[in-house]
Amino acid sequence: GVRAARIAAGHGARVGICETSRVGGTCVIRGCVPKKLLSYAAHFAEEFEDAAGFGWEVGESRFNWSRLIENKDREIDRLNKVYLRLLSDSGVVLYDGHGKLLDSHRVQVGDDIISAEKILIATGGRPWKPEIPGVEHSITSDEAFHLEALPGKALVVGGGFIACEFAGIFNGLGSEVVQAYRGDQILRGFDQDVRDTVAAEMKKKGIDIRLGVNVTELTRHADGLITAQLDDGSEIQADTVMFATGRVPNVRGLGLLDAGVHAKPGGMIPVNEYSCTNVPNIFAVGDVTNRVNLTPVALMEGHAFADSEFGGSPRPVNHGFIPSAVFSHPPVGTVGFSEKDARTRYGDLDVYRSEFTPMKHTLSGREEKTMMKLLVQASSGKVVGLHVVGMDAPEIVQGFAVAIKSGLTKQQFDRTTGIHPTAAEELVTMRTPVQG
Ligand code: NDP
Repeated sequence: GVRAARIAAGHGARVGICETSRVGGTCVIRGCVPKKLLSYAAHFAEEFEDAAGFGWEVGESRFNWSRLIENKDREIDRLNKVYLRLLSDSGVVLYDGHGKLLDSHRVQVGDDIISAEKILIATGGRPWKPEIPGVEHSITSDEAFHLEALPGKALVVGGGFIACEFAGIFNGLGSEVVQAYRGDQILRGFDQDVRDTVAAEMKKKGIDIRLGVNVTELTRHADGLITAQLDDGSEIQADTVMFATGRVPNVRGLGLLDAGVHAKPGGMIPVNEYSCTNVPNIFAVGDVTNRVNLTPVALMEGHAFADSEFGGSPRPVNHGFIPSAVFSHPPVGTVGFSEKDARTRYGDLDVYRSEFTPMKHTLSGREEKTMMKLLVQASSGKVVGLHVVGMDAPEIVQGFAVAIKSGLTKQQFDRTTGIHPTAAEELVTMRTPVQG
């Protein structure tokens, strides 16, 4: 919403934006940004341990949850102010409150009724929890950022982005963590080698991953402890139960019906490649459209909308080869197809795979592996998938994503000189395919 508003205003449009909470969006206020700060905090535990192999005596270390949360909140306040300033500097008018469409051109915010030629819905999503008895005793990622204390024992439910990231955060900070997932391996949809490597490394770090289970009931006891009943007959005791079981589009009370905007059951708003809904002057971008639910994708969609509608340069959004990362411990960076999807799509596939101990751990002694994988369409030589699990994976893959998005071939990878000694050089030096 902020990106689209700023760019549209830059093109000369008169823009108003309405927000119920704080501007900046889920990512800044209660998502990617605070999550990454907590993830940094969690990494220190291992850094202190690893230092010993390099001759350092770190001494006793203690972690203070309240200080971390306080500092994180201060940073989010700062960012929120930056976003407010960006809007006002662009001449965007902020309407503080919930926006409700009255028809296809009018929006009510409190006592104000605002008319607009074009309306953009960028309301994102909110966490979803299954309706099981006692679910009110659990939290979602929204509350996880404001817990009064670090969980002593946490049960994280789910196997997706948020579940894996928070399992790593709580575990790194010192909680005992059980992660319960209904499927046969965490991170469904990712390459199988990525899934297996992440799960194995998370287990090594002490996370108790239980697969093939559903939580069926939660009971809270007088001492505050919660018992989770699982459908395999087992029970788990925890002081914090966090559901990370997906998010749903935020369309409650938006007045979509009054404006004639079609939404699917569950709230997803279908749009065309220009982010236009079935109503020609109403557009939607980001998670509320449930295309690829990632912040940079929403930014791209919002920017394209503003350029198309106000900048005189209509352009559709290209959702091909979008890189992404999971900030699990260790993290994942990925772009392109998984091996399974690439085989289905291209048939003829060369698979290059490498697993090694990162140089840092030769002295730290930590038994953490890095896994890298390249998938190449054999007939054209085009690299159609690149996956990394391990230290710095998201930073590495961001750069390589330029090559993959540009359709470069394995031969062009091979002609690129490695930077030595790095982990990333492996991606330009793998020569022998392993047929998976
Ligand atoms: P995901 O869709 O990634 O994962 C949801 C998980 O919950 C899956 O493991 C799913 O299982 C499980 N689940 C769904 N319904 C149930 C149920 N009824 N009972 C038990 N388990 C269930 O959602 P997240 O909440 O992790 O993340 C939300 C969104 O936020 C994602 O779309 C992601 O793109 C985005 N995000 C991105 C991040 C990043 O870029 N690093 C970080 C965090 C979030 P199954 O696999 O079997 O369906």
